[in-house]
Amino acid sequence: MTLYRGGCHCGAVTVELETATDPSAIDVRECQCSFCRAHGAESASDPNGRIRYIERAPGDMVRYQFGTKTCDFLICRHCGVYVGAVMEGYSTTQIKHFEDRALFTKTARHPDYDDEPLEDRLARRRRNWTPLAAD
Ligand SMILES: [Zn+2]
Repeated sequence: MTLYRGGCHCGAVTVELETATDPSAIDVRECQCSFCRAHGAESASDPNGRIRYIERAPGDMVRYQFGTKTCDFLICRHCGVYVGAVMEGYSTTQIKHFEDRALFTKTARHPDYDDEPLEDRLARRRRNWTPLAAD
């Protein structure tokens, strides 16, 4: 497993993605929802990896919901950077802030999930997103 580290702008929130998958093989997505477009979000996940979000102090991350309200978007309370989204112990993470962003070389897809039925959406996340580390 290799550890890829990123985080918000001010350093209050750190993201650690552990994966055995070469980053050049990991799918990169620029979701077309209004939130992701507003952030210029680039998301990635590995269902065989592990991910952690680490706050410097409790409460450094705030959670935002919209639309179906089925996942929490994690945002640094201090600098406003969107670091990832979580649902039921799974996460898709932002990779723009990764120290090794350049290693994620796949051309981004531009999925539009607006018309996706809710049950399909939840199932897709459970299948594709990265499990949160247990510790
Ligand atoms: Zn921050």
